[in-house]
Amino acid sequence: MRTRVGIVGAGPAGLTLAHLLHLEGIDSVVLENRSREYVEARIRAGVLEQRTVDLLVGAGVGERLLREGIVHHGIELQFGGERHRVPLSELTGGKTIVIYGQTEVVKDLIEARLATGRPLLFEVDDVRLEEVTSTRPRLRFRHEGRPQELECDLIAGCDGFHGVCRPSVPPGVLTAFSREYAYGWLGILAAVAPSSDELVYSSHERGFALLSLRSPSLSRLYLQVRADEDVAEWPDERIWAELHLRLGLPGWTLTEGPVLEKGVTGMRSYVVEPMRHGNLFLAGDAAHIVPPTGAKGLNLAIHDVRVLANAIVRWYRSGDESALERYSDECLRHVWRAEHFSWWMTSMLHLPPDEDPFGLRLRLAQLHYVATSRAAATSLAENYVGFEL
Ligand SMILES: Cc1cc2nc3c(=O)[nH]c(=O)nc-3n(C[C@H](O)[C@H](O)[C@H](O)COP(=O)(O)OP(=O)(O)OC[C@H]3O[C@@H](n4cnc5c(N)ncnc54)[C@H](O)[C@@H]3O)c2cc1C
Repeated sequence: MRTRVGIVGAGPAGLTLAHLLHLEGIDSVVLENRSREYVEARIRAGVLEQRTVDLLVGAGVGERLLREGIVHHGIELQFGGERHRVPLSELTGGKTIVIYGQTEVVKDLIEARLATGRPLLFEVDDVRLEEVTSTRPRLRFRHEGRPQELECDLIAGCDGFHGVCRPSVPPGVLTAFSREYAYGWLGILAAVAPSSDELVYSSHERGFALLSLRSPSLSRLYLQVRADEDVAEWPDERIWAELHLRLGLPGWTLTEGPVLEKGVTGMRSYVVEPMRHGNLFLAGDAAHIVPPTGAKGLNLAIHDVRVLANAIVRWYRSGDESALERYSDECLRHVWRAEHFSWWMTSMLHLPPDEDPFGLRLRLAQLHYVATSRAAATSLAENYVGFEL
C-alpha cells in the first residue's frame, strides 16, 4: 500500500488531520489499534475553545456541535465558602467556550472520514515505524490477521501518550520535560442535569472538586484523590458525600443521579522537543500532556494538526518545506503557554499532600487576587478561552 500521509491514531488529532488533508485533496491512511466502538465511547475532554470550534465548523464537521454544544460565557471559582464568577466573554472581547464531549467530536470525525471513502482501519496490531528519516518512511502493521506495509511521504504520530510513534524515535533525539503531581482526579459521569449553569472549580480544605457537564442531562464531576487511589475504595455514596462537602454552599444543592462511569486519572505535565524526527511529525498527546485542570489537551491536539495540515498542504502545493521545518517550534510556543497555564491552575486549586501553612496562604492569596483583580481574572480568562500567540 502507498499513501501520502500515514496517520497513526484515530483520536481527535489523527482524525482532524485526516479530514483537513482530505479537504485539500491529499490522501492519507489512518491506523487505529482499538475498535470504533471503543474510541467512540472513551470519556475524556469536554471543553472546546472558540478556535477549536471555529476549526471544526470551518472544516464542515461542526453541524451537530453547533446544534448540541452548550456555549458558556464564564466559570465559577469557589473557595472560603464563596463562589466568584470569572466572566470569560466579558474579559476576552466576547470569546466563549463550548461544552461538547470528546466522544461526540470523535463520532462526528469518524462519520466524516467514512463518508469520504478514504481508509480508516480499526483494530490494527503491531504498528511499527521504519526509515522515518528517509524520503520513503514505512508503517508495518497487522490488520485482520494479515501483515501489511504502508509506504508514505510523511508519518503523523497522533497515537496519544502511550502510543508507538514517540518511543520509536532513537534515544538522544528527543528531550523530555515532565512534572508528576502527587494527586489525580476521580471522575464520574452521572445521569443527572448539571446543578450549576457554569463549571464550578472548587478549592476546598479537603481537596479540589470540579462540577462540569457533558450535556443538559449528563453531569461530569471530579474529586482530587491520591494519584494511586483505588477506585474500588469509592462506592457511589462515598463519592456523592465527598462532592457535597467540597462543592456545597448554603442555599445551593448538588443533585445526585445514577453514576454511569467512574475512573481515576493521574496527572502529569510532559513535553518532548522537538516534535519532529525526519519525516515523523508528532502531534497531540503523543508529544505533550497537560493536567486536565486547564481543559487544554484536546484543544492543543487540534491546534497541532491545524499547523501540520497547513504545512503539508504548502509542501505539496509548492515544494516549500519551510512551514514543515517550523512545525515543531510553532507548536511548542503554544504548547508551553498551555503547559504553564495548566500547571498554574492545577497548583492554585489543588491541595498538595505536604502543604504547609505558608503554602496554603500563598494559594489563598492567589485565589483572592484572581477573584478581585480584573487584570488577574483577565489573564485566567484569556488563557482559558485560548490565547492567540
Ligand atoms: C479525564 C480527562 C479529562 C480531560 N479533559 C479535557 C478537557 O476538558 N479539555 C481538553 O482540551 N482536554 C482534556 N483532556 C485531554 C484530552 O482528552 C487529550 O488531550 C486528547 O484526547 C488528545 O487527543 P489525541 O488525538 O492527541 O490523543 P488520543 O485521544 O489519546 O488519541 C490517540 C489514539 O491513538 C490510538 N493508539 C494508541 N496507540 C496506538 C498504536 N500503537 N497503534 C495505533 N493506534 C494507537 C489510541 O487508541 C487513540 O485512539 C482530558 C483527558 C482526560 C484523561
